[in-house]
Amino acid sequence: MRIKIICTAMIISGMLVACGGNAAETKSAENTSGAVTMEKYADSTQKGVQSKVKKYRVISESGKAVETTKESTVAETTAATTQAETTIAENTKAETTQAPDVCLSALVLEQTSKQTEQTEAKKETVSENKEGGEIGLNPEWQYASFSKINSGKSVLYKAGENAKGITIAVNAGHGTKGGSSQKTLCHPDGSAKVTSGTTKAGATTAIAVSEGMTFADGTTESTVTFEMAKVLKDELLSRGYNVLMIRNDTDVQLDNIARTVIANNNSNAHIALHWDSTTADKGAFYMGVPEADSYRNMQPVASNWEKHEALGKALINGLSANGTKIFSNGRMAMDLTQTSYSTIPSIDIELGDKTSNHGKDELKRLSKGIADGLDIYFGK
Ligand SMILES: [Zn+2]
Repeated sequence: MRIKIICTAMIISGMLVACGGNAAETKSAENTSGAVTMEKYADSTQKGVQSKVKKYRVISESGKAVETTKESTVAETTAATTQAETTIAENTKAETTQAPDVCLSALVLEQTSKQTEQTEAKKETVSENKEGGEIGLNPEWQYASFSKINSGKSVLYKAGENAKGITIAVNAGHGTKGGSSQKTLCHPDGSAKVTSGTTKAGATTAIAVSEGMTFADGTTESTVTFEMAKVLKDELLSRGYNVLMIRNDTDVQLDNIARTVIANNNSNAHIALHWDSTTADKGAFYMGVPEADSYRNMQPVASNWEKHEALGKALINGLSANGTKIFSNGRMAMDLTQTSYSTIPSIDIELGDKTSNHGKDELKRLSKGIADGLDIYFGK
């Protein structure tokens, strides 16, 4: 028997989104016990406690309706996602002989109800520049086991009406307490580094995630990369990109491998933000894939290095077009952990060095350059 469900929501604090206010992602679930179970994957950016009264009306084909009322509370959260589960079992048993699906999506800005066929009651995303949720390292993901520091979470922000369906991993370089006390394999096959950077060529292990440099004015690189990441996030969201903030706070317990693997599995391109440790205000450049055959023939580099290079060039073009000073030809070959484990277009971009301006206006200009570069790369 097909059962139609009418889902109405009345939210005391104002009409927002059906069945859950800030719900970014909702899904319905069948319940074999005959009760109606609803799971909400809701996120909240609002401070304080919201009290919501929701009404659900379950209608069978015979036309009989049972109206239920449920009051729920969404507690304060400063993080991205609160996962709320609401079970409405008490009042819905009368008219149903099988478990109905429950409509949990649907905007109800003006209308107070929306009728949805059971077959259409699929997962639907309601996104208005809201966070899509926290994402941690799944140990099942390829290369995840190479990580040593991985208890932290990244945060996905979803674009609004103009969503492109493209997710950019924005990786604010550094910012992992204790990151330099652990070492990870430079390459997944255990081979030695082919260029010298923070770790010398020939080494097979490198610091899991370094502390980064300190600017001439005393600001730490990790502070500036995080400020940059926030500015870039806003710019990208406004252009319709989803943004996976690899580090969404001053510290995240994710090493370079964990960051890369999370990006691999949850985004379409990975951009790590850095400033170099020189003092020449030499301009921006990307870390290119070393020309060494042994490196370029190693997986996953072999399958992806051309994409990394194309992304790097696009970013430099975007930055240059926005007036950013570019170092040399905008490229420096470097054997990086990030590149060595990336299975998506992935680049470490150095936006300047210790003496470069890193004021708010400069970060905004840089973010437009990077976003223009991504528009070039994705042809948007
Ligand atoms: Zn750095």
